[in-house]
Amino acid sequence: DQARVSRALLSVSDKTGLVDFARALHGRGIALVSTGGTHRTLTEAGLPVTEVSDLTGFPEMMDGRVKTLHPAVHGGLLAIRDNPEHQAALAAHGIGAIDLLVVNLYPFEATIAADRPEEDCIENIDIGGPAMIRAAAKNHADVAVVTDVADYATILDVLESGNGMLGLDLRRRLAQKAYTRTAAYDAAISNWMAARFGVEGPQPYRAFGGSLAQGLRYGENPHQSAAFYRTPGVPRAGVATARQLQGKELSFNNFNDTDAAYECVAEFDPARTAAVAIIKHANPCGVAEGASLLVAYERALACDPVSAFGGIVALNRALDGEAARKIVEIFTEVIIAPDATEEAIAILAAKKNLRLLLAGGLPDPRAAGETVRTLSGGLLVQGRDAVVVDDMPFQVVTKRAPTEAEASDLRFAYRVAKHVKSNAIVYARGGATVGVGAGQMSRVDSSRIAAWKAREGADRLGLADSLAKGAVVASDAFFPFADGLLAAAEAGATAVIQPGGSMRDSDVIAAADEAGLAMVFTGHRHFRH
Ligand code: 5GP
Repeated sequence: DQARVSRALLSVSDKTGLVDFARALHGRGIALVSTGGTHRTLTEAGLPVTEVSDLTGFPEMMDGRVKTLHPAVHGGLLAIRDNPEHQAALAAHGIGAIDLLVVNLYPFEATIAADRPEEDCIENIDIGGPAMIRAAAKNHADVAVVTDVADYATILDVLESGNGMLGLDLRRRLAQKAYTRTAAYDAAISNWMAARFGVEGPQPYRAFGGSLAQGLRYGENPHQSAAFYRTPGVPRAGVATARQLQGKELSFNNFNDTDAAYECVAEFDPARTAAVAIIKHANPCGVAEGASLLVAYERALACDPVSAFGGIVALNRALDGEAARKIVEIFTEVIIAPDATEEAIAILAAKKNLRLLLAGGLPDPRAAGETVRTLSGGLLVQGRDAVVVDDMPFQVVTKRAPTEAEASDLRFAYRVAKHVKSNAIVYARGGATVGVGAGQMSRVDSSRIAAWKAREGADRLGLADSLAKGAVVASDAFFPFADGLLAAAEAGATAVIQPGGSMRDSDVIAAADEAGLAMVFTGHRHFRH
């Protein structure tokens, strides 16, 4: 299974390590062929190199769009060595076999990341490179393909120990890696086009083609393996872009919960208000707005301080000293914020295990994107739930319209409900949650839990009335019957926000009117499973 390397074709955009690698190949007696820029670099280094245009008899043309797309190249890559007809074809057309292909692609990803004009991005879509990579990888029975500068050293080591030969195992591994590279490359192009051109509809590539960013110690449970993959293209600010300043590596659950926390708090425009979300098991145990992060944190914590222990804290503004001092009073797994002051960083540094992530910005809740989930034998891909309550209808369906304070709390509660697992019921008052019911199989049960939490909150504060009294309530989907709504009214809620759209809407509206509630329909459901 050993294959001798007699001729190598090198065509690289990233010329890191190129000259040393090519010199070593040449030193082993391997003939070198290369494209324009690569040829220039090697010639300047004093190495003898044949230009691809001499092989093809065609000059590179159309700004390099057509360089290597020619039978003299692809025949040399694809010919099967022990197939007499293939060998006869090589001989008949004067084509020389290529045993080693070294290609890295036009820097498309770097070009889009630098936000270059559209023509630059298009021009940086490599055509001949992926074609050669795929040809060589297909013919790995005879050809080795190198797509990563980091593999140069291995190739030289193996050539040295193998007396100029490369083994099948290595060629297979390189081929598999090569297809991963071309898949990720096309995924980056597809992602970029979807965003750039606002293309709607299924885009299978967008879900795939992630690149391994980090292996994780284990998954949701210790007996599950896990890794974090970065999707190609320009990421939204968040866990994927964050800089970790301290603490242990993020675990699988940390990644998941931190993402949920940051997406939730990003619903709150930092120019309008400070906001804090505290998350456990991807559900908010408290979310609040406030005049400062400290106030917002204290109010978010007050909603459910028992659950908040060991939680994830997400902030929508740069973390400051006073908020940091308060947060470290209880055990917190992760803090994520766009930024932090020197003072805050110094305060948190005393808590060695606390993970601090600075994301550099907030994700745009309206941005397009996908969520992916696996099921046995496939993937389910859907667009993000990118609709926000400010963009929805705010249709008052009851006799009584909400007061200004109620309307503001209704919007607040709906923003939070979007980030609570279904069935989601959220009680809120004065821009803070006072009771969250999450993830129950019946809406009535979620309502009961939320009301019970609001009652507990009152008990903690020594208040006679439940915190649900005078609060508003949000439901992530319509009330199928009046019972869930009546439970909320009984708990003391005065206003309701929900999508509407139930067959029994008229019953539910009548019940709301009878209880003196104000109710708003948004027309948009926020299921989250
Ligand atoms: P060089 O700097 O040697 O002129 O160009 C190297 C780059 O050209 C590599 O990134 C390689 O993938 C790319 N390349 C090679 N052949 C072709 C081709 O036929 N068309 C296009 N668009 N790119 C090519």
